[in-house]
Amino acid sequence: MKNTAFVKRKHKLIVGSCFVLFLLVPFSSALNTHEFDPISFEPYHYHTYQEMTDELHSIQMNHSDIMSLTSIGKTYEGRELWMVKLSDNVNLDEDEPGVLFMGAHHGNEKPGYEVCLFFIQYMVEQYENNSVPEIRNVINTTQMYIIPMVNPDGVEADTRKNCAPNHGPFGYSKTITSYGVNLNRNYDDPWFLAYILPVSYSLPFILPDSSFNYRGPYPFSENETKAVKNFAEAHNISISISYHTYGEFVVYPWMHTSKQTVDEPLFRSVGENISLINHYELFVKTYHLIPRYGGTLGSSENWFYREKGTIAYTIELCTERTPTNPQVMYNLCITQTTVHLYLCQRAQTIESEKAALHHS
Ligand SMILES: [Zn+2]
Repeated sequence: MKNTAFVKRKHKLIVGSCFVLFLLVPFSSALNTHEFDPISFEPYHYHTYQEMTDELHSIQMNHSDIMSLTSIGKTYEGRELWMVKLSDNVNLDEDEPGVLFMGAHHGNEKPGYEVCLFFIQYMVEQYENNSVPEIRNVINTTQMYIIPMVNPDGVEADTRKNCAPNHGPFGYSKTITSYGVNLNRNYDDPWFLAYILPVSYSLPFILPDSSFNYRGPYPFSENETKAVKNFAEAHNISISISYHTYGEFVVYPWMHTSKQTVDEPLFRSVGENISLINHYELFVKTYHLIPRYGGTLGSSENWFYREKGTIAYTIELCTERTPTNPQVMYNLCITQTTVHLYLCQRAQTIESEKAALHHS
């Protein structure tokens, strides 16, 4: 973090939230009483890819007992796809629930990776200070995975899609016809469903490779989605969040239909608690039908839930795409850190809750 005052101020607030949090009552109202230090009235500075990379390395060097940093792949332009793991015995795959936080599938939606970076910094500092024993407990009992920037090429170019060249909608053209795939339409959802129900999934509009929602020539055609897939297949992930901006709402599978999953009660229960913490709107299937959000095919949530059974959420952060008010970003980072801690706690029981639900 660039601003040390910024870092120090956060401790008291989250500590307050956590004590209540661990009584199973999500809480974030302490944030509302926080006085903002006028020192930070500069516009909020979003990390560049390189700044984030440097910071991750430096945090890891100082906290190698609980943090590992690995690359799960490389982008078309050669940037590493960083994955952070936070846990005790961090180099071992232990029998502890896994949670996953991802940012910036869309490169022009930057608050998500700032939230992830803040969370990493907060956790390692708290673990070291040990001023909140519960934080230590979370690290000792959970395997937290964070992929802060899924689309670093898109972040650097400030664009929604990635930056790899396209060769026509099906990849058959000999020449480059356009650039970029919408990574959050490139998961196998199943991806081919768009051909069976073309109107429902706006196929005529997303098929041209120049479309801002172009979903690629085939599922997992892109380095970034392939890397997330390979990572996910090698790890158990009980709960996940993928961050986007904007809208201040929480959605969960199915993303492509108003039908409910068999885990609807779990999705709703966890989602309601997220909503209590961040005051975002939870799109519940029975009264907020999917058309309001638009049927999305090829998103990470559907794939994670279908393939891994992950209780997977998309959270659309903020009321604008790129907030510049530092107070807004500060509150956002604290609030979502509280959400993360709640999910780590809930992850301890989620698999047995799921088993009970399936057998009831
Ligand atoms: Zn997005």
